Formats: sequence, structure tokens, C-alpha cells
Amino acid sequence: MPRVAPNVPAERDLLCEACGYTLNGLPGDGNCPECGKSVQFSIAPTGRQPSAWERDGGFFATTAQVIFRPSWFFRSTTTRGDPAAAMRFGTIHTAIASALFAAAGILHIGYLTLETGQRPGVIGYGLVWLAIAVCTFIAMTLTTRLAVRLTTWEAAYRGFRLPAPVVQRGLAFHAAHYLPIGIIALATTAAYQVGLNLYPLYWSIHVTTYLYVLSAEVIVGAAYLFHTYWIAMRKMMYANH
Ligand SMILES: [Zn+2]
Repeated sequence: MPRVAPNVPAERDLLCEACGYTLNGLPGDGNCPECGKSVQFSIAPTGRQPSAWERDGGFFATTAQVIFRPSWFFRSTTTRGDPAAAMRFGTIHTAIASALFAAAGILHIGYLTLETGQRPGVIGYGLVWLAIAVCTFIAMTLTTRLAVRLTTWEAAYRGFRLPAPVVQRGLAFHAAHYLPIGIIALATTAAYQVGLNLYPLYWSIHVTTYLYVLSAEVIVGAAYLFHTYWIAMRKMMYANH
């Protein structure tokens, strides 16, 4: 049997925030016939508001909310409206993450493999760091664009209302999740360098421990990003505003 793709609700349809049921034409003081949640829960304008970042430039407040309370953040933040501010938030976080990953990369590869006499000095390291950071930033931006396309396509196929601007906005806020990964990657590579300087013999023998830790961080980091991406999309797919 060929699979029949379900219809995506129209942009003007009112959806139940809890279960996705179409509430068109129901009284505002009633309940969802499917799950029993009050209609107000889904349509009240206070249910979703612009982020602190959009209201008053609260960069740290929004960053902390996205990282520590992702379900709450994506359930209580508007999904429609001007995408430019959200995109700026995402761009800043992608830039910070690129800088952190590039620094971790230099500590991991460049600093490790070169003898003291061959090291390129502060300016040399600065230029290499900048080049890696710019490449990382471009790669992350392109990956995000691809993720927007794939998500929009997949959602339409499954019948979820996640148009490209909504997905783009969600992923822009989701970019805050790069921050803990970048900090942990830099801390790990820096800690190894410190250990190598303090106890060269011990840590050059135990380099595999360091490499295992780093590999584990890559896997856990990817799982963390995917898990928080799902939280964001799930909490936005029944949003009405
Ligand atoms: Zn419902």
C-alpha cells in the first residue's frame, strides 16, 4: 500500500498546542475535543511571547533559558514574526562556537605535533585560529541551512506545520546549545596541554585516555544537539503564533 501523506494544517488554522488537533470554529472558553486541554491554552496571546533577546536584547537571559530550560523556552516563545533578530542571535552563537572549536582544534592538533622551535608564535597561531574559526563558521552556517531544508521537507511529509521561517527561527535559538560543547571541548584540550606540561612523561603515555575522552565528547555532543533539536521542533510544531 502506498503511504498517503497527511495534510499540513494551513497557516490560519488554530491548532491545539497539546495534541495538534484543529480547533477552528470552537468557542474560546471551550476545551479541545481530542485531549481536553482548554482552548485558551492554545490561543491566548500570553501563551507565547518574543524572547528576552527580542524584547530587550537579553542575550545571556535567552542563552541560559535555551540551555537550561529548552522545553519551556520553545513552548513559550513566539514562532512567527520577524526572523531577523533570532537570526542575529544564532549568528552570534555560531561565531562564539566557531572561535571555541578553532581554539580547541589548535590545542589538539597544531600545538601537539610541533616541536617547540617550529611553533609559529602568537601571530602565527592567531592567523591559523582565525582561518579555522572562519571555515568552521561557514561549515556550521551551511549545515544549519541544510537542516532547515531537511526539517521543512520531513515535517511537510509527516503533516506537521513547520514552515521554513519557523524552523529557521527555532534553529537560530537552538544555536545556543553549541556553547556548552565548545566550552567543554576547549577545556578538555587545554587541560591536556597543561597536564602535558606539568607531567610530560605520564600524559604522553596516557594520550589514548585523552583521545577517548575527546571522542566520547564528540558523540555525546552530537546526541545532545540532536536531542535539543527535537525538543525545539516538537514544541513549535503546534504553535499558532
Ligand atoms: Zn488537544
